[in-house]
Amino acid sequence: MNIATEVNKEVLGQIAAESIAKINPNSRHGQRWINAIARATAEIEINPYMTYNHDSKSLLMMSDTSNEIYNANRTCSCKAYSQGFPCRHRAAARLITIYIERYA
Ligand SMILES: [Zn+2]
Repeated sequence: MNIATEVNKEVLGQIAAESIAKINPNSRHGQRWINAIARATAEIEINPYMTYNHDSKSLLMMSDTSNEIYNANRTCSCKAYSQGFPCRHRAAARLITIYIERYA
């Protein structure tokens, strides 16, 4: 699956909205997760350098801002994750996992 070109943006937007609705913005990192999901949704639609691994349910993506390659599922190899913060890579991996489980 070439994610950026094949993903249905309406469906992705729906999944993102559902995910955001479940988050309490006042919880620890709640607002950060909301921001991460919003940025992940936008990035999924345009970043051609994303590969989803169905076995590990992980997403390999090259960042358009840092040119680093990140591997994300429940953990991530980025700096934000190492500092204990939500990141858009994990948000993107989760969104795509839900998308595939539900619609693919
Ligand atoms: Zn990350």
